[in-house]
Amino acid sequence: MQFKPFEPNIEVSGHAAYAIVAGFGIVKILAKSHLRHAGLPEVLDKNNWYSQEKWLLAFESASRIGGDNTLFRIGLQIPQHATFPDWMKTIEDAVRSIDIAYHMNHRKNNKIMFNPDTGRMTEGIGHYGYTKIEGQNLIISVCNNPYPCSFDRGIITAMAQKFQPDATVIHDDSKPCRKKGGESCTYIISWQENNIKKTEPRIPHLQDNKPK
Ligand SMILES: [Zn+2]
Repeated sequence: MQFKPFEPNIEVSGHAAYAIVAGFGIVKILAKSHLRHAGLPEVLDKNNWYSQEKWLLAFESASRIGGDNTLFRIGLQIPQHATFPDWMKTIEDAVRSIDIAYHMNHRKNNKIMFNPDTGRMTEGIGHYGYTKIEGQNLIISVCNNPYPCSFDRGIITAMAQKFQPDATVIHDDSKPCRKKGGESCTYIISWQENNIKKTEPRIPHLQDNKPK
């Protein structure tokens, strides 16, 4: 289900919430009233943490106005605003890092849900799945989290296209969908090129052939 927290005592970082509010763009003024109605301050402090329950309430009511297209566009902008791990080099890294960034931006009982020292995640908010299909330029991402379907497609698209601009992200309509009350959505990420950086063929210089 979209917009329904899995557990109480979960908070979302001001950074992530701020990025979403900023994404509402022209409906920003409207976003303020949705924040207020959900019991949140109209202006979010990036360094603060907010109740996920209240946050999802505000996000849900604001998204009713924008619809799926707005949610998709907001999702696309998230990677520009939110903090992601800095070890990303490939499309695989980028898609895999979404779940880590997601946990880094949520707290449970006042503790951030990803520990960079141990690499451990705390359960309670679901995941952005990552399954690489070996030998193919294909990743399957099953997302079971309380965020909306189109929003997640936007995030995954932006992250995939960071390293493979031609990457496409398709929602697998044959699988359950959170928009229709399902517990997860499945996205198929594919691309044409491989990640190996092509090196320029070395053109032998005339000078090289000069007899010494
Ligand atoms: Zn879906």
